Amino acid sequence: MIGKKTSRRSFIAGTAVLGAAAGLAAPAIAQGKRTLKMVTTWPKNLPGLGMAAENVAKRINEATDGQITIRVYAAGELVGAFDVFDAVSSGNADMYHGAEYYWQGKSAAFNFFSAVPFGLTSNEMNAWIYYGGGQELWDELSAKFNLKPFLCANTGVQWGGWFNKEINNIEDFKGLKIRMPGLGGEVLRRLGASVVSIPGGEIYTSLQQGVIDATEWVGPWNDMIFGFHKIAKYYYWPGFHEPGSALALSINMDVWNSLSKSQQAIIRDACAAQNDVTLAEFNANNATALATLLESHKVELRRFSDEVLTKMGAVSGEVMRETAKADDITRRTYESYLASRKNSMRLSQYSEEAFWQARRLPFVYE
Ligand code: CA
Repeated sequence: MIGKKTSRRSFIAGTAVLGAAAGLAAPAIAQGKRTLKMVTTWPKNLPGLGMAAENVAKRINEATDGQITIRVYAAGELVGAFDVFDAVSSGNADMYHGAEYYWQGKSAAFNFFSAVPFGLTSNEMNAWIYYGGGQELWDELSAKFNLKPFLCANTGVQWGGWFNKEINNIEDFKGLKIRMPGLGGEVLRRLGASVVSIPGGEIYTSLQQGVIDATEWVGPWNDMIFGFHKIAKYYYWPGFHEPGSALALSINMDVWNSLSKSQQAIIRDACAAQNDVTLAEFNANNATALATLLESHKVELRRFSDEVLTKMGAVSGEVMRETAKADDITRRTYESYLASRKNSMRLSQYSEEAFWQARRLPFVYE
């Protein structure tokens, strides 16, 4: 079990395993048993996201009574973090676990299946994918690349990121070198920042060496494991850019079609289970990590002002409307996503959002 005591060094060091040696593990088909290769965008044994990949593989192995064994490769073991899509699309690996916004260069529509600025929360994302037409669009998009995708983890609301200078107004983003993937990165680029998208395992060194001035990653739990509190002064909230980031397990379509109906059902349900459990894991561990960051590490929290958030929101809307024009599937995905967002916002103001406000009223409870 990888717990909160895992050091940065233990999993980052693991990424140095020789890719060539790992590549020798050929898929084994013997006595009806299969070994499939899963490549990921995560450092080895990364708590939360990396372990979601490991754990869904374990679920599938157990539920198939060992008929399917999935060997999980961390970023850099078989292919680099950002090469997993091509590896699985071409059949060099059987499935990947990663964030879909990394593939926005293939089609802008991929952004919608991880997270977009001021978009859907984790609950709302599940509603859209499972019941709002999202999965059908995602299947159509992925099929163009010979892939079959599933939701397979969610981080919940992410944090604004780690900064060494305060963001008091929108001008403070000008010239800032920041790591932020997806369309959130495009928003900050338009606000004058110099934005990079680099894999998780490379962020700490980049920030330490001054290649970047600021970074977002996930939230208190994952960020504390990376050690950003040691090299950055302010921890900003909320993360406008990733309100509930979904991670995907996507399978090579030929491999998917070669599986029995029962095996397909097991994989589908294992992914749904992992989607739930990883979110619970983030929620539980973020809460305890936040306490540690505040009480033991004396981290200074900063909230983006309403003025800054409003400007970010306006630029986000501009980016979203332009992104929608990229191609036909992106336009249809945008329209479906937007309709779901509108419905969710109307519901939320009377349900979750309203309840959270009510729960914070100044009554005595304990
Ligand atoms: Ca992030």
